[in-house]
Amino acid sequence: MSDAETLFERIIAGEIPADVVYQDDTTFAFRDIRPQARTHVLVVPKKRYRNVAELAAADPQLLADVIATAAKVAEIEGITGSGYRVVFNTDSDAGQTVFHVHAHVLGGEQLGLFGR
Ligand code: 5GP
Repeated sequence: MSDAETLFERIIAGEIPADVVYQDDTTFAFRDIRPQARTHVLVVPKKRYRNVAELAAADPQLLADVIATAAKVAEIEGITGSGYRVVFNTDSDAGQTVFHVHAHVLGGEQLGLFGR
């Protein structure tokens, strides 16, 4: 992987403004700039991995931290009762555009089905 900073590293560093929902020592959560649901928050590990497979292989505890933060975001957003979705788009067919692993936390309304 190139050493060039990703967009999300610049957001974590505060170089690009974002609507931050939560952060702790290892993870960072902020609202997606183009929300696909009433609630749409991105959760990233502060340390960069390309995608969820690389994160899972290299640092399972950090992946657990990302999932725990996704659950915390759902609590903060008040959507635990109604339900929500956690999605990791992984590489090109899934439409991953930022190669710093991130979980999409989606909810706050009835969501559509998976697929095309
Ligand atoms: P991906 O398609 O890689 O799974 O998701 C990347 C997400 O990042 C997209 O949903 C996109 O809307 C979001 N995004 C792209 N640029 C920015 C930005 O500058 N700020 C924020 N908050 N989200 C962004």
